[in-house]
Amino acid sequence: MAARSPKRPASARRHIPTIAPALVQERLNTIYGPIEWHPHRIALDQLINTVLSQHTSDLNADRAYDSLRKALPTWGEVIEAETATVVEAIRHGGLANQKAPRIQQILVEILKRLGHFELEFLAGLPLEEAREWLTSLPGVGPKTAAVVMSFSLHMPAFPVDTHIHRVSKRLGFITEKTTADQAHPIMEALIPEDERYEMHVLLITHGRQICKARIPQCVNCPLAKKCAASTMK
Ligand code: SF4
Repeated sequence: MAARSPKRPASARRHIPTIAPALVQERLNTIYGPIEWHPHRIALDQLINTVLSQHTSDLNADRAYDSLRKALPTWGEVIEAETATVVEAIRHGGLANQKAPRIQQILVEILKRLGHFELEFLAGLPLEEAREWLTSLPGVGPKTAAVVMSFSLHMPAFPVDTHIHRVSKRLGFITEKTTADQAHPIMEALIPEDERYEMHVLLITHGRQICKARIPQCVNCPLAKKCAASTMK
């Protein structure tokens, strides 16, 4: 794990949740745990897969990713290809007309900066430096950067996807007005570095299985007595 991140916005430092994150973690662990970090894709592969996952399901993103790798097996070939060829290859992932040029721009920028495509060096940088490097790539936001840092580089970033954003609002970790992008530093300030991967997996699983978007199944939730948004009160 990298060193503790040095700075947090004042709003993140002041935020006090109505239920302790440690208690949430303990209770969710009883139904979804134990959670262990395991290696995911290498960093650049994860980055492109995460770009493909924007505004679609992981299943569609994986299908688009596999199709892209089959049509254009190297990242150099993706750069050299006609954008229309990339669009066709990633059609399964949705928004292909936007994602294809974005992917090519990211690859061109990485090659320009490094002369190669290996992003593993980022694991040796302080967390905020690695985040800045990634989010300064075209179209790479806080979530995509955090996914790469957490899943591929085993760094203590906390990705906030749509499920975690929703569950975190219901549990009072963030306010109703907090955007997913704004939630990243707030959640990282609430959760110790070595707990972030586990908490990420627990909250995303809870959002998918019980704290669902339309009708949360509070009757089955181990947090119901403490949760301000519980329908069991
Ligand atoms: S009590 Fe309901 S709203 Fe609160 S976390 Fe559980 S399922 Fe979600």
